[in-house]
Amino acid sequence: MDNHISDHTTIVSDAALKTAQSVDKDRQWSRLMQLAEIGAIPGGGVNRQSLSTEDRQARALLVRWALARGFEPSVDDFGNLYVRRSGRNPEAPPILTGSHLDSQPSGGRFDGAYGVMAALEVLEALSDSNVETEHPVELVVWTNEEGSRFAPGAMGSMVFTGKVSPQQWLDVTDDEGTTLSQALMETLDALPGLPRRPFGFPVHAYIEAHIEQGPILEAEHLSIGVVTSIQGVRWFTVTVIGETAHAGTTPLRLRKDALQDALAAIQALNTFMNDSTDVLRFTIGRLVLEPNSHNSVSALCRFTIDLRHPDPSVLRAKGDAIEGICIDAMRACTVQVTQNLELPCVAFPEAIVDAVQTSAQALVIGHRRMPSGAFHDASFLATHCPSGMIFVPCAKGLSHNVAESISPEDAAIGTQVLAATIVELSRAINLNPAVILDK
Ligand SMILES: [Zn+2]
Repeated sequence: MDNHISDHTTIVSDAALKTAQSVDKDRQWSRLMQLAEIGAIPGGGVNRQSLSTEDRQARALLVRWALARGFEPSVDDFGNLYVRRSGRNPEAPPILTGSHLDSQPSGGRFDGAYGVMAALEVLEALSDSNVETEHPVELVVWTNEEGSRFAPGAMGSMVFTGKVSPQQWLDVTDDEGTTLSQALMETLDALPGLPRRPFGFPVHAYIEAHIEQGPILEAEHLSIGVVTSIQGVRWFTVTVIGETAHAGTTPLRLRKDALQDALAAIQALNTFMNDSTDVLRFTIGRLVLEPNSHNSVSALCRFTIDLRHPDPSVLRAKGDAIEGICIDAMRACTVQVTQNLELPCVAFPEAIVDAVQTSAQALVIGHRRMPSGAFHDASFLATHCPSGMIFVPCAKGLSHNVAESISPEDAAIGTQVLAATIVELSRAINLNPAVILDK
């Protein structure tokens, strides 16, 4: 009996299997480790925030690798970076595959970076196996997925898909007061001579490989998550405005204490968001006080809300109620609630989900279908073209953490499935777009 793969050749093409078999585990791993040196921080993580010096170094390294293999790099005006391997039909819309190179301030080595290195490995595997695809295949690096330096996240994919005009974000500043426009200009200038691409060019399909950022695959000893959907997200900022006063002289009944009213609002929100099924995700991740002084009543308390749910009707109802609950909770202060981000629940098209699953089956790889709890650039691409995602397991589900870890074997398996999926999708003529639930 020869290898398992030959038992399944009928369900995917020879070209798909040949490309998957050309994925080079050691080459991919060595690239991931070289990339991880850029912005390396103690504990094994990286600090490679968007449009920083480190981000620029990572982009330059990728372009060097691409040029060395004869692939064609290009960039758009928002810094989204593309690397093209042409296909049989140069006019055909490309299959895009990639993720992001930026990280959280104390991020891991694989969030985003894995999807970009997997994409490069697919391009190389295609070349090594002499497979000619009908459509060009392009690696993409989306600018500022993380949103930690310049908020919000996923800016590059939002601009590409026309959800937001780039002008809206050019004046956003980081903590040092650098504008996004300045950082973007320096990033574009650091790679001179790259051809410029328009936003929103036609795309045949988008496939993003990513670490799971959750514990399910590892717990079930599976190497591949076939991602079916991404739960919806709403971000809010709540600003409670009171008045500062002397902590020693001002009676409590006369205070407009912003922190105390904010705590009342948070308590009311916690009660309202309680979900016995534990599906809803409600997080207050940032809280800022002014003047933030030991012996002063707080004049201002600002906190953020991250709300997620896979059911659009629940997400809408819970999110819409936030403002009223906060207003009702105020005793002496006033409150403003603003929504900063709203991402719809996305169901990936069956044609893409099937292509991923069939590839995993053909390669005899343990897999399961699963939703994504985190949002990704694919959330936005899904509004533009047929899209999908492939997850690989990460140790203990840890992410946004220096201890984030994947194995070289799983990294290679994920890329094999990505490669086979891309070759199969290049043969498909009609792909249905994603279903955007509750658009
Ligand atoms: Zn990511």
